[in-house]
Amino acid sequence: MCGIVGYVGERHAGEVVLQGLRRLEYRGYDSCGIASVHGGRIELRKDAGMLDEIEAQMGLSGVPGNTAIGHTRWATHGGVTKENAHPHLDCSRRIAVVHNGIISNYRELREELEAKGHRFLSTTDTEVLPHLIEEHYSGNLEQAVLKALERVRGSYALLAVSASEPGKLVAARMESPLVIGVGEGEMFVASDVFPFLRYTRRAVPLEDGEVAVITPGGYRVMDMRGMPVQKSEIRVEWSDEEARKEGYPHFMLKEIHEQPSTIAAALRIYPEDITRLAEMMAEADRVYLAGAGTSLHAAMVAEYWFSRLAEKCVIPIDSSELENKAVVDPTTLVVGITQSGETYDTLSALRFARRRGARTAAIVNVIGSTATRIAEHVVMQGSGIEIAVCATKTYTSQLTLLLRTALELARMQGKGVEELERGMQELPAVVAEVLELESEIAEVARSFFSVSNYIFMGRGINYPTALEGALKLKEISYLHAEGMSSGLLKHGTISLIDENMHTVAFVPPEGQNRRRVESNIQEVRARGGRVMVIASGKPAAGDACIAVREVHELLTPLVFAPVFQLIAYHVALKLGRNVDRPRALAKSVTVE
Ligand code: GLU
Repeated sequence: MCGIVGYVGERHAGEVVLQGLRRLEYRGYDSCGIASVHGGRIELRKDAGMLDEIEAQMGLSGVPGNTAIGHTRWATHGGVTKENAHPHLDCSRRIAVVHNGIISNYRELREELEAKGHRFLSTTDTEVLPHLIEEHYSGNLEQAVLKALERVRGSYALLAVSASEPGKLVAARMESPLVIGVGEGEMFVASDVFPFLRYTRRAVPLEDGEVAVITPGGYRVMDMRGMPVQKSEIRVEWSDEEARKEGYPHFMLKEIHEQPSTIAAALRIYPEDITRLAEMMAEADRVYLAGAGTSLHAAMVAEYWFSRLAEKCVIPIDSSELENKAVVDPTTLVVGITQSGETYDTLSALRFARRRGARTAAIVNVIGSTATRIAEHVVMQGSGIEIAVCATKTYTSQLTLLLRTALELARMQGKGVEELERGMQELPAVVAEVLELESEIAEVARSFFSVSNYIFMGRGINYPTALEGALKLKEISYLHAEGMSSGLLKHGTISLIDENMHTVAFVPPEGQNRRRVESNIQEVRARGGRVMVIASGKPAAGDACIAVREVHELLTPLVFAPVFQLIAYHVALKLGRNVDRPRALAKSVTVE
């Protein structure tokens, strides 16, 4: 999930690799390391922590020689420790490997290798790779890598070096990105082009199932059977900043489009941490989910999951109000939800809870942030860094983790939740389909959003969807929007409806809530209001409609999110707003 950089040439490789890893820091990581080949041996430096820290402590970049591989790790298997940091070595310490991804059959491979006498030093899935390569090594690294990969299942971007073959990197890719950078008498390879753009603009992206042999003079790519593959070079014209945007005009758009993969990551990571959170919830008499802004909306969606699936009453609460109204004692659990882990109000809520002797937990995206140190239990989001101020992918990651927790709690109580569990696993694919509707959504956004005032409405679990949809629009377009439950509309707000107040309605699949929202839409239209419908399943009557694939009503917040995010993006774009850096807002609000 994180970053890899490799170099062969005439420069001091450790330096080039460290610079390159810095260019990948935006992805987020918890540990780092570099190994070089020099004087017939492997030099290795690695530890848990940030690049600058480890560089200051042990001189990461100081590894000697002109061939090196480096890694930033976002732990998936095995804790965040020095031993688990990459690169990993074989028993003879003559082969070093860095790897991003997950080796799914590592248990079986590890048992087999241990039975043959291999000694493992880490608890990662990755360490099977150097040992497996060692097992097949007889003087030719690429042959040994090919042999080893015959046995490996899962996803990987990997680089290997051997002490016996200086000036050679072997790279392989399966479902994790890897790109070769072609220089003059030197070569680079990295998770994206960003680490080598200052040296060369010639890039050769590897495809799944390809293995490359990289030397200072050139590269050779083959398939898994060792048959040569013809590759063509691309020229990267991006500036540094654009390269980080991977071709998207804004970070926000890039991050919206990352959601199929960030939701997929949130579906699989940290099962033990989710179970622990569910257990803490089961043990507590009272549970508050405390957040601010988008995180509060995630908490409000989750309230429906906990009550509907696990019959557990949890209370979503604005972090800044917790101290004023919550009942906090040792039987209470306060779960802080904060992407940055630095949101002042949420940190205050967690600190207050601790002072009162309550249990605390946090759902956080940024590793090493304050919330991860204050809370007794932490579930990391694994969404990767979010650069746009407006939260998109981190919202759907938070939702996914909260849904998993609710399902876990339900399972602990012996409730059957298989149907929802299956639906949840399909979310990355469904969200990918929703994103394919972007041009249709952009079209509607441009034509429907022609006034200054909007109501976003929804019922049931899409009441918080309405709040989040309105917040996205406000944040980046500066248009006024109000989110509310559509049931509340007639208790006051409907008097605002006229041709200058448009409405966006979230319509779930067939059922009671659909019928009710449809009636509310009629009420608005009868008063001359224009309504845009966002529906799951069949389209519903309105002045404009975006219909996405039908999913279980309880899953609709995750498929509606990309629609309202894209709407906000395209409206802001049309109005010429600074999409990634809206006025007056900061990415993490670290003040009261
Ligand atoms: N699964 C490997 C680990 O946990 C690699 C993680 C990564 O992609 O950074 O060490």
